[in-house]
Amino acid sequence: MLEETMNTLLLATSNPHKVEEVSAVLTPLGWNICTLEDVANGRPLPSEPVEDASDFEGNAALKAKVYAAWSGLPTLADDSGLVVDVLDGAPGVHSARWSGVEGDRATRDAANNQKLIQAIAPFPESDRTARFVCVLCLAEPDGSIRHLTRGVMEGHITTHPRGGNGFGYDPLLVLSEGCTSAELPAKEKNDRSHRGAACRALAEVLGQPQDRDPQ
Ligand code: IMP
Repeated sequence: MLEETMNTLLLATSNPHKVEEVSAVLTPLGWNICTLEDVANGRPLPSEPVEDASDFEGNAALKAKVYAAWSGLPTLADDSGLVVDVLDGAPGVHSARWSGVEGDRATRDAANNQKLIQAIAPFPESDRTARFVCVLCLAEPDGSIRHLTRGVMEGHITTHPRGGNGFGYDPLLVLSEGCTSAELPAKEKNDRSHRGAACRALAEVLGQPQDRDPQ
């Protein structure tokens, strides 16, 4: 049962990794992060909005607005992806389903990673610069956008996946010290990741939870 307080924010995602990563930053600051399942409490969820915007900001905003109207709660949505310079920014906003392979998240992630390895293989390591980008949007139930924040994590792409943590393209993004994002323990990933940075930027503009006016 959802216990709603002035500090409650709905996090509109079906990705448990995103729930963990966002909660790890915002919960210790006093925000009560609840999930779609908490709010649904057995009711059906609305159908997932089609993410057809041309940028991360547009997709984050459309997701946040749909779920804020449905839930009646201030709602956070994250849109994120991998931007590879030599691939003209691909997979970008198409990161989640880039390979076109359907199936569960693990199946889609494996197919996406295979496609990336093939696409990047012809290029020398010096040309494989890339970054994860995360945009967080906080929308109110009346459809207004309260905040949009962005974070990035820079690296380059390897054709030799390494590491068992995280999700998605984590095993293929090599960071400055030579380990992949999937080799970072969860806390360390959050301290330096695109999602951690977007969350911290959001926390800063929101201020302390008790400073926030009741709606
Ligand atoms: P979204 O759910 O539409 O935001 O899609 C995000 C997709 O981008 C994921 O399915 C991953 O493929 C990729 N992605 C986003 N953030 C990360 C991350 O932290 N690690 C690895 N892949 C990520």
